[in-house]
Amino acid sequence: VSLVYIFLRSVVYTAGRILFDKHIENVYNNSMKTEIYEHSVLIALNRLKEAGYEAYCVGGCVRDLLMGQTPEDWDIASSALPEEICSVFEEFKLILTGIKHGTVTVLIDDKLLEITTYRIDGNYPDNRHPENVEFTRSLEQDLARRDFTMNAIALSSGGEIIDCFNGRADIKNRVIRCVGDPAERFREDALRILRALRFSAVLGFAIDEVTSQAIFSEAHRLSYISAERIRTELTKLLCGANVGAVLRKYGEVIAVIIPEIAETFGFNQHNRHHCYDVWEHTITVIENTPPQPILRWTAFFHDSGKPGAFKLDENGEGHFKGHGKISREIADAVTQRLKFDNSSRERILTLVEKHDVRMEPDKVFIKRKLSKLGAEAYEQLLAIQLADNKGKSPSYFFEQKRITEVQRLTKEIVEGKECYSLKDLAVNGNDILKLGIKGKTVGDILETLLDTVISGEQPNEREALIGYLRGFTA
Ligand code: ATP
Ligand code: MG
Repeated sequence: VSLVYIFLRSVVYTAGRILFDKHIENVYNNSMKTEIYEHSVLIALNRLKEAGYEAYCVGGCVRDLLMGQTPEDWDIASSALPEEICSVFEEFKLILTGIKHGTVTVLIDDKLLEITTYRIDGNYPDNRHPENVEFTRSLEQDLARRDFTMNAIALSSGGEIIDCFNGRADIKNRVIRCVGDPAERFREDALRILRALRFSAVLGFAIDEVTSQAIFSEAHRLSYISAERIRTELTKLLCGANVGAVLRKYGEVIAVIIPEIAETFGFNQHNRHHCYDVWEHTITVIENTPPQPILRWTAFFHDSGKPGAFKLDENGEGHFKGHGKISREIADAVTQRLKFDNSSRERILTLVEKHDVRMEPDKVFIKRKLSKLGAEAYEQLLAIQLADNKGKSPSYFFEQKRITEVQRLTKEIVEGKECYSLKDLAVNGNDILKLGIKGKTVGDILETLLDTVISGEQPNEREALIGYLRGFTA
């Protein structure tokens, strides 16, 4: 049976390989199978063509297709002017909020498609927004305004590829390269600096040397970029699989936006638990944290307060007592400045502050923590603690056994619906009121009852708990 299985598996694998190679070969022969297009995209492209205009898929969706991935959203560029696009799609629902910049959003098949007139961007007086946009009938001019060669490829409804800046070669070699002179492109719009780092972190592509140099020389312009855009790009960057390499190389670029972390660069911990400086430790923890925004941002901030808390003892050993609080203050300031939503902010701050509270592999201990933090936050805290340990000296790795045991017990408690919170308790506020108790005391009594259940002193049963209470009130 296993031989048959191995045989079938290799047949499937080989077939997949042949199909993929065929796809790549087609791509490099300037054509792409069009069955993979989304239906609404084909409708839009063909309608524009039938009305006598040019229309191409451009940007991220073409990049994704060339990499053999399914695009999330599709952008279309067309020689038609905005009002011409509107009349081509007269009978569809249109959204015109972007029309000043040439974008008309069309609802086709329940899908929103952005169709943008070919354009040339004017001067960029503020390092971000072009002063004016000029529409053009030239696809090449439209491709020339785009940020990176991999994002400047056009694809027609028939599968024809227009690649004026050798984007396909760069995708094949996994390189991010500006279209045109990098320093000039970053001066026009500094957000492109962060986009380059983000694409590198997410796609695992290297950044071409000339583009990389310009990132460093123009990084100071990042101060002109809005908080929202910075937050969005940094969050994607932090969640990328290649985040470590990007942070290692471009830490000082990040520090233009978040100067609070600059002190951690190269900061020697003088501590036997640590083989890395604070920044390298931080990066390692980020890499070892599941790629979710809250967790990655928590890892980013968790030790930012260490330089501020540093003390050397008489034996030359470094200590960082209270650094969690200082890290929390830094995270607080930065997340406010970058306009995080309140609930993410609160969660990140809690996790940062508590990241080094020692957890015991003991159900009573864990349930008390769960009752304070809730299951989601507590599980996030454990994920951070495990990652934190992986960023320390290998001689300290034995602690991972304890943390994974706490994780296992936590899972058992949560999945087994064991009582750890007031809502699980077999009595509620009404039961207490009925005993003639009023006001704030009701809450205190519930907390006490919960703790007797958590500690195993009383079973989580209504009769037993009320009987227990009566013993006190009698
Ligand atoms: P993703 O959607 O995966 O983040 P994307 O490349 O599609 O990646 P979008 O922000 O959707 O990124 O932009 C679509 C296209 O518009 C890009 O591929 C690029 O051609 C162009 N573009 C976007 N932002 C800029 C910019 N700041 N400067 C120049 N061109 C840009
Ligand atoms: Mg996109």
